[in-house]
Amino acid sequence: TTVPLKRALLSVSDKEGLIELGQALAARGVELLSTGGSAKALREAGLDVRDVADLTGSPEMMDGRVKTLHPKVHGGLLALRDAHAGDMEAHGIEAIDLLVVNLYPFEATVASGADEASCIENIDIGGPAMIRAAAKNQGWCCVVTDPEDYGALLAELEANDGATTLAFRQRQSAIAYGRTAAYDAAVSTWMARFEDTPRRVAASARLAQPLRYGENPHQSAAFYTDGSARPGVATATQHQGKALSYNNINDTDAAVELVAEFTERPAVAIIKHANPCGVATGETLAEAYQRAFDCDRTSAFGGIVALNGTLDAETAELMAGIFTEVVIAPDATDEAKAVFAAKKNLRLLTTGTLPDPAAARRMMKQVAGGWLVQDHDAGHVTESDLRVVTKRQPTKAQMDDMALAWTVAKHVKSNAIVYAKDGATVGIGAGQMSRVDSSRIAARKAQDMAEVLGLPETMAKGSVVASDAFFPFADGLLAAAEAGAEAVIQPGGSMRDEEVIAAADAAGLAMVFTGMRHFRH
Ligand code: 5GP
Repeated sequence: TTVPLKRALLSVSDKEGLIELGQALAARGVELLSTGGSAKALREAGLDVRDVADLTGSPEMMDGRVKTLHPKVHGGLLALRDAHAGDMEAHGIEAIDLLVVNLYPFEATVASGADEASCIENIDIGGPAMIRAAAKNQGWCCVVTDPEDYGALLAELEANDGATTLAFRQRQSAIAYGRTAAYDAAVSTWMARFEDTPRRVAASARLAQPLRYGENPHQSAAFYTDGSARPGVATATQHQGKALSYNNINDTDAAVELVAEFTERPAVAIIKHANPCGVATGETLAEAYQRAFDCDRTSAFGGIVALNGTLDAETAELMAGIFTEVVIAPDATDEAKAVFAAKKNLRLLTTGTLPDPAAARRMMKQVAGGWLVQDHDAGHVTESDLRVVTKRQPTKAQMDDMALAWTVAKHVKSNAIVYAKDGATVGIGAGQMSRVDSSRIAARKAQDMAEVLGLPETMAKGSVVASDAFFPFADGLLAAAEAGAEAVIQPGGSMRDEEVIAAADAAGLAMVFTGMRHFRH
């Protein structure tokens, strides 16, 4: 049951420890067979390596899709050295006693957000085939699929005079099948990312809470959770107040997901009917809350407030001044809880941490007779994605405000228009059927805000404005310019971009294109 190690095939994507292993094997007089990149690395380290292509007489082809898929390789891995000696002789098959393979980094490629073609190209075919062959033939062949095990292999050879024991090979086979099973499960999960979602959701759904009613009192309703650990309304701890209603849950979700986009400064989002009516950053949460509230004091009444940091007493005091349905934050101090204790109807929830806005997840929406399934909108633009298209360049302060307005616009129902100034929204137009109407509403809100605050000029004056999709005509943009906006952020990509850019130039605006749209319905 002990098999002396004479020939090894090394084919690894993760080259960690490869050279040291190659050197140790070579020092034991083991013949090294290897594939393209692995062979090159070994050779560069001065080792004597035989190409698999030389063994098979068939070159690597199809960009590496076919490297080791050959009877000379699979025969060498699978042959029972006694029972199949005749076949080996007849077909010129040389026994391979050790297979060292780690697979194309499929999981890491998916996790990096790579495009579909790259993910598919990173599905290893020859690697798992060889691993499964070697692992099956555990009576003769030893398989190693993890650089972590190179040390154990060398210790095994040292202890057994250059051979492997059956016990060691069995252990390695079990590890190997575990690896290919996990690998294929990752591929299957990725491939079924749309097809399976409704079924998987149905299977994981757990009744969390029967609800008193749905969006309206004549609709019965319930809340189901999906068992995921995502911090948010489904996993939050409720400290006080009545049970959440259907609309509370929907709005609280919108609030948390929006505020989680802000990680650099204290930020607060106030939500009404699933749309933000004020979002602001500040030096402190109290300041951010006050500024978010000021954006639209009328709408903030009965709103849902989400914070991106621990609720403190100062902020709680400010909130206690008006009727608020729900406050949700990663945590709350005892002092803040004490402030709220008197407000019996206010629901206070803590989530522990903030959800990761970039984490991949699926969204499902039901239509009569079916479900629409899509990736959650994790789209994010960085400064290098932005293209200034006007003669006027935005200032640094405008860039910062545009980043905020753009992020908020992603969370506003389309058509979305968001005015922002000094790190806070000052006018939000949501859910209109025409973009120009959203522009007008947002501009009017900025005017209202100034009136409520007793300021002489509209808040839109000197602001920036974000549009969740391109301006199909110059009118929406001109409405914003007329209101006083000085910089515009929008995806671009309209047939009439030229016209819109010309209008921006004529109005003396700075405008940047993001190249990405954020419809939300
Ligand atoms: P190398 O860097 O040596 O060129 O490639 C090593 C990788 O190729 C390993 O991850 C191994 O699993 C994989 N591999 C080996 N043979 C084949 C094959 O025939 N087809 C595919 N798609 N991958 C293979």
